Amino acid sequence: MAIATINPATGVTEREFEAHTEAEVDARIDEAVDAFRTLRSSTFADRAGWMRAAADVLEAEAEEVARMLTTEMGKTLAQARAEALKSAKTMRFYADNAESFLTGRTIEEPERMNASGAYTRYEPIGPVLAVMPWNYPIWQVIRFAAPALMAGNTGLLKHASNVPQAALYLDTLFERGGFPTGSFRALLIPAARVEKVMRDRRVVAATLTGSEPAGRSLASIAGSEVKHVVLELGGSDPFIVMPSADLDAAVATAVSSRTSNNGQACINAKRFLVHGDVYDAFVERFTSAMGALTVGDPTDESTDVGPLATASGREDLAGLVDDARSKGATVTTGGEAPEGAGWFYPPTVVTGVDTSMRLYAEEAFGPVATVFRVADAEEALKIANDTTFGLSSAVWTNDADEEERLIAGLTAGAVFVNGMSISYPELPFGGTKDSGIGRELSIEGIREFVSLKSVWRA
Ligand code: NAP
Repeated sequence: MAIATINPATGVTEREFEAHTEAEVDARIDEAVDAFRTLRSSTFADRAGWMRAAADVLEAEAEEVARMLTTEMGKTLAQARAEALKSAKTMRFYADNAESFLTGRTIEEPERMNASGAYTRYEPIGPVLAVMPWNYPIWQVIRFAAPALMAGNTGLLKHASNVPQAALYLDTLFERGGFPTGSFRALLIPAARVEKVMRDRRVVAATLTGSEPAGRSLASIAGSEVKHVVLELGGSDPFIVMPSADLDAAVATAVSSRTSNNGQACINAKRFLVHGDVYDAFVERFTSAMGALTVGDPTDESTDVGPLATASGREDLAGLVDDARSKGATVTTGGEAPEGAGWFYPPTVVTGVDTSMRLYAEEAFGPVATVFRVADAEEALKIANDTTFGLSSAVWTNDADEEERLIAGLTAGAVFVNGMSISYPELPFGGTKDSGIGRELSIEGIREFVSLKSVWRA
């Protein structure tokens, strides 16, 4: 795959980039090692000042960053702006909280270990490799980089090949805030060259956000090198609607949760499990609301859903819908890619999906919703958990006992009650099963890439 900006709304290649040579990659890793020497002896206050200044830069440039994201991967300008601002907010969150999140603890009753005192402390570990996807080109990187740099580590970014301008923007952002040169470096390399970087002795750990095959590959290399990894992989999140829910709110939120980011978020709701008492009303209203969305030019402020990011992504998505339809599923709206330039695909609702269809088990990475009729909470849980994924989930109910049963019964990294899955800097984020290992964001996120040192004193 070429390292290039190809506008998904037109299919036109706007800019191409040369991959870094082996010598350039080597020099960039060296820079990250040198910067680590400086960074590890800096104070939290130093780093917080640089991080806040970098957040100011990003915020001031939010408009041009948004245009770059829309050009590279097709999200609407409004959502691209929101991504830039949320990223700046998260940088400030870690500037404010990193020191308290990384405060070790005093061990009680040290005399039981023949000690006069004992405590723990967290220390940075060095250059960490981040392999990142194109769907939130700034946000996915910031949610790793802000805590990693605040902890005193340095970062090496292998970004997705279709968002090179975002990669190069991030390459300088932290230095522009005052971080030492080399604190965060982008490597313009194809996926095939990740292994060599991962096996490099100077690189101490890695995080990958992306597909399951990419995660499995990186994790196996990291395992053989005994290096820590965090994996944020795919999801096929359930969205359960019970009769006591506010149906209008559930439908409106279901539409946002399925179509935000043009339907290409790991935590978009993808499977809608609706109780029989409200199923017909839900399908009717959901179909009509999905069908009423405006699909088109992502730079037009009135557009709700822009194109998919890649031609192959649209082909995969259309293949899932065609397979289900050919095996007897019903498409209540959408389901046909339009003619013409750009990789557009309409918001689509599919009912009558069964286990013989690929759509039952595979992640639909685009605005395609599958709706199932369920008899009760038990059946909702059975279908919700009948997947290899376990990222996030949503439950809609106003019955307290049912809410508790659903929260406890869902195998997922998060449950949102009467709302939709969204990542917040304050809330830990990550998956179970094949959706990944480890957590990002909040206190847990910053503790992934630090070393815990125990101190015992006679
Ligand atoms: P992808 O193909 O796995 O790409 C993600 C990144 O991994 C890119 O930088 C890619 O580089 C690189 N990569 C691909 N194969 C690799 C390999 N074998 N070894 C090392 N690196 C490799 O994923 P995608 O299609 O861009 O993103 C969609 C997937 O990401 C979906 O499954 C989605 O659910 C998941 N996702 C998960 C989260 C989360 O937080 N859990 C967030 C966003 C997306 P190239 O571009 O050069 O191929």
